[in-house]
Amino acid sequence: MYQGTLFKLVGMQDFEEKKGLLMSKAVTTPATPFQVLADVSEAIMGTSGRLEKMDLAGAFLANLSVDETEIGALLLIGRPFPRTSQRTLALDWKALNQILQELLHPSRELLNELFAQSGDIGEVIYQLYLRSGAIRQSTLFTTPLTIQDVHSTFTEIADAQGPGSRKRKTTLLRALFTRASPLEAKYIAKLLVGDQRIGFSAGMLESAIARTLNIPLDLVRRANMLTGNIGEVTRRAFHEGSEGLEKVELCAFVPLLPMLAAQAEDVKDALKIHDGTSAFEMKLDGARVQIHLQRAVNQTQIRIYSRRLTEVTESLPDLVELVGNQVSLQSCILEGEVLSQGPDGRPYPFQYLMRRFRRVHNVEEMIAEIPVTLYLFDLLMEDGNVLIDSPYQVRRKRLEKVSGAVNLVEQLVTSDFSKAQSFFDKAIEAGHEGLVAKRLDSTYQPGKRGKVWLKVKQSMETLDLVIIAAEWGTGRRHRWLSDYHLAAQDPETGEFHMLGKTFKGLTDAEFEEITQHLLDLKIEQRGGIVTVHPRIMVEVEYDEIQQSPTYKSGMALRFARIKRLRYDKDPNEADTIQHVQELYDSQFQRKAATNRVGRTE
Ligand code: AMP
Repeated sequence: MYQGTLFKLVGMQDFEEKKGLLMSKAVTTPATPFQVLADVSEAIMGTSGRLEKMDLAGAFLANLSVDETEIGALLLIGRPFPRTSQRTLALDWKALNQILQELLHPSRELLNELFAQSGDIGEVIYQLYLRSGAIRQSTLFTTPLTIQDVHSTFTEIADAQGPGSRKRKTTLLRALFTRASPLEAKYIAKLLVGDQRIGFSAGMLESAIARTLNIPLDLVRRANMLTGNIGEVTRRAFHEGSEGLEKVELCAFVPLLPMLAAQAEDVKDALKIHDGTSAFEMKLDGARVQIHLQRAVNQTQIRIYSRRLTEVTESLPDLVELVGNQVSLQSCILEGEVLSQGPDGRPYPFQYLMRRFRRVHNVEEMIAEIPVTLYLFDLLMEDGNVLIDSPYQVRRKRLEKVSGAVNLVEQLVTSDFSKAQSFFDKAIEAGHEGLVAKRLDSTYQPGKRGKVWLKVKQSMETLDLVIIAAEWGTGRRHRWLSDYHLAAQDPETGEFHMLGKTFKGLTDAEFEEITQHLLDLKIEQRGGIVTVHPRIMVEVEYDEIQQSPTYKSGMALRFARIKRLRYDKDPNEADTIQHVQELYDSQFQRKAATNRVGRTE
């Protein structure tokens, strides 16, 4: 009954008509078909007005049952799971491609052609489905997918672990695609690859909730910030109203998105932005952790989350013990940086530390091999009292009171440029990345990268590299070759060795221009990757040179970004792989040596 009505939505021109249809009882079936979500997503994509997009989303959400609202909201913004969830689909393009080959048998030429046309995986799959009579036939006889079907299959895929899990994941996914209509397949694929591209973000969803229900936007935002789950916020808002959102509080074991820092040129710049005074903290190049603690009568529970909110408690039992023994609170949320240091106190490279974080078996062995130290820098909740709205200075004072013998990140509050500069030099000298300047009166803003926290780093020498291949972009950049494979030259063999990829640093006009140049230099295209004659030179900035098992050079640039196009330079002037190796080695003069185990792995 609903299908016939809903398919009309896509072709409808009139916005009020679309909205009316969504609000109508026709779509309020006991279980909402996934097709409705796909149709609404298409309608949102086809509408340029922000308010109209919000109204379409609002109308869709208003029609969902209490059990569907959370997942419906998440799926609409292209997330299979909330950001705070530990679940991931862990399926790559290879798995998706395998299923496509089995179900649709596309030729390589057709795939390449469709990719070049849209650069959007969902759109490619949609086109393949339209061309494949077989699939459409089968979907006519199966029960339609509901949004709950899709969500529970995604959950099963994420939960499939251990031996045979890849096969189980692929079987589940194949079953989903077999039941899907062309448009449903498009949106399942988009969810799988995490690239929604309908012009509807989590931020717009917050506004849509506020607008549809006439609830203050700040209240919606705050609830989202505290829960980290926009799906839950949507359910509360639509089914419990403002009151439901007001009840949301920060609590232990619900990790909070970490606050981030914007970049400052140097300490002078940081002081200026912070109106003359700032709290400078050492910027330790370790791994960020958020530690949640709650004590009950006979038991203390502690969980540790990484920067990406993955739980890492199991690999850090020594820190659990330390915090449990030292922190004198009944419940709290702490933040800090975990560092692995050599005997002289110098930090080991980040990559080396990561081996410790990934380890969940034989942890004891790893504790001995890679000992770590915790340096705390923030306190976000203290015995049930939320501190994120308190000024930085107050939080730091409280942290100093409750942290016992746990180290705090070294800090200097100053308005004196030369003192700040000496502190920066001291940080670099000690092998750290630089400083983080924090505004004294700043509140903690989860998930935000604002100017209240500023990172000041020592810039690395830039490299002149050559582009050896480029990938078609996605989303807004889909018409450009916008992800560049960067290489240095080995003068002995004349070969170019890849050191990394980047899509950062160019303006739209430069993307446009370079795409043309690259296409003129094209050797071949495979999938979305165009190999080119190595002619175009770029000056590249980066944070660090890391070891890489992926590239033949054995090295990769961390956070590479293009500083300038260097049409004035010839590829023969590209930096040599030997020079990059020297820079890599010199990094270790600042860092502790890891030659025991680290560098030869
Ligand atoms: P970046 O990754 O360059 O954006 O810098 C932000 C990261 O610096 C944070 O996520 C932390 O892991 C790290 N960091 C190191 N020291 C500090 C500090 N004192 N305060 C805040 N973040 C720090």
